[in-house]
This record gives sequence, C-alpha cells and structure tokens, in this order.
Amino acid sequence: MKKAIISQSLLICPSCQHKTLETMPDNTCQWFYECVHCHTVLKPKAGDCCVFCSYGTIPCPSMQNK
Ligand SMILES: [Zn+2]
Repeated sequence: MKKAIISQSLLICPSCQHKTLETMPDNTCQWFYECVHCHTVLKPKAGDCCVFCSYGTIPCPSMQNK
C-alpha cells in the first residue's frame, strides 16, 4: 500500500515565529527558505535534509517515504 504523502507543511521561522504554509517539492530538498515576514534566510540544521525537516511541522516528502 502506498503511503499518502503530505505535501504541505507549516514552516515556523526561528527568529520571528511567523508561520507560513508552504508546499514542499516532491523530489527535491529545499535548502534555503526566506521568511516572508522578517526575511531571515533559513538553512537546514545539522543532520536535516531540508528546511522543512528543520522548521516545518511535517517532514519533507523524501523523509515521509522512508
Ligand atoms: Zn521570520
């Protein structure tokens, strides 16, 4: 059975706590994300593959596939 992939994640900015609902790319990892509110450029934390894994409420699609 194929697992349903959630493609939208709520990104929470670590500097201003602003929440943005973002659609995650299916098969690429997004390494950079600029906060729409404070314009801080987010980068993945050590050990995380993308900004969604570090700051999102839902892990990215490639992590959900594991
Ligand atoms: Zn921000």
